[in-house]
Amino acid sequence: MTAQTPRTLSKSQVLASRQCQRRLWLEVNHPELRDLDNAMLQRLREGRRLEAITHELYPGGVLIDRNTPLQEALQKTAIHLQQTPRTPLFEATFSAHQVLVRADVITQTHGERILTEIKSSTRVKPYHLIDCAIQHWVIDAAGHPVSRVLLAHIDRRFNYRGDDYAGLLRHADVTEPVAALLPQVPRWVEAGLDTLGNSTEPAISVGPHCTDPLACPFRRHCEPHGTDYPLSLLPGGGRIITQLRAEGIDDIRDIPEGRLHKALHLRVRAATISGNPFVGTAIGDALQASPYPRYYLDFETIQSAVPRWPDTHPYEQLPFQWSCHIEPAEGELEHAQFLDSSGESPMRACAQSLLDALGTAGPVFTYSPFEKTVIHRLAARFPDLAPRMDSLAERLYDLLPLIRAHYYHPAMKGSYSIKAVLPTIATELSHEALGEVHDGVGAQIAYEELIEPATCMARKASLADALRRYCALDTLAMVRIVRFFAPSPSAPG
Ligand code: SF4
Repeated sequence: MTAQTPRTLSKSQVLASRQCQRRLWLEVNHPELRDLDNAMLQRLREGRRLEAITHELYPGGVLIDRNTPLQEALQKTAIHLQQTPRTPLFEATFSAHQVLVRADVITQTHGERILTEIKSSTRVKPYHLIDCAIQHWVIDAAGHPVSRVLLAHIDRRFNYRGDDYAGLLRHADVTEPVAALLPQVPRWVEAGLDTLGNSTEPAISVGPHCTDPLACPFRRHCEPHGTDYPLSLLPGGGRIITQLRAEGIDDIRDIPEGRLHKALHLRVRAATISGNPFVGTAIGDALQASPYPRYYLDFETIQSAVPRWPDTHPYEQLPFQWSCHIEPAEGELEHAQFLDSSGESPMRACAQSLLDALGTAGPVFTYSPFEKTVIHRLAARFPDLAPRMDSLAERLYDLLPLIRAHYYHPAMKGSYSIKAVLPTIATELSHEALGEVHDGVGAQIAYEELIEPATCMARKASLADALRRYCALDTLAMVRIVRFFAPSPSAPG
């Protein structure tokens, strides 16, 4: 196909080009090859929510709607800066040297024009400075010199009281480091325009740049095809993957003996070549010794840049759901669960219901250290429940380190997530079959829609059902893992 050179690059296209020229080329020529996973969609949703709050933080500000035709947006910006420069302007639009930018906020005080970029991260990152430098360069070139550049990011210490969001953002003055980058911007732009002038896709291989500064959505397209076991499946492969690729090796099965040194890498290579799982001998004994009743616990949590309930902080992980499978005795299985769909703060009811369901004795299996963290935070939040929550935390038994040390199946493709392990020990169970909610980020997205007042009752019922099925499968998966490695005569596998 023939690439079309656009007359204008957007800021995000210049940023894409800095990460990788192939990414820019694909974004313009084949955007349909992008994989937008739930994590990326959630970042976009968070960005929109923060944007709305930001507008409240600049009283009297004027917004140029993103749907405004480009020429009209450029014109409105120019008129605003000329006639009412002291009024904050959101989505101010500028174009120069074939680059188009939309600035989050432009303000003017004491004759100084201030560019403010809003980010949902909790600190200034190097790529934020690059982002600001592109804007600064274009705005200057458009005839509106910028005096100062502020990077407004989330202040993790902010405690939402339930009234307003004053204090949510910290404004860091990044004028100097951004100015130092300005001489490089023309080169970035030129490189981007050159890439778009190419009719063929740049031949750039996957490597560390694919996740720096952010995960590239074209990864699946760029991974070497023709193998089910690319090197990227080596957990934490990093440098050795880069070295092997440079030697022309793309498949784990082609790695020569002696090239890998980490125990996990050696295990992955051996199992992938033989097609047989690795099962350590000690795993069954370790699990068999666990007494009854046995509990299998999993939480779902919500985490947001903009706190939703009083007395919560940005990015605090707050539980709204749990599932627990219970084996009261060998061969018996029960299920308990909690899901708050009220839209009110769910933490107290979550903690109380958990204590009621999990009794006072018996191991509580989890599949990560995350449940312990959540329980400790609930104990800190509700001092009256703290002694019982602390006792519960002492009963937790994390299966993940045990599985990691004693098991690997080639079908896990380098992953120890419960979703990867489950189909290798219980072929009839799979998260893939769950439909709408099949991962943690998807659960958060579903929960946000569930508690949204505008969501109709039928949709709420469907979301609640999807959430319950998802969380229940995670805890059933743990039951099956334990029974697989430590079968008992009276319990089905
Ligand atoms: S996956 Fe890597 S190589 Fe492919 S476009 Fe993205 S950054 Fe470039």
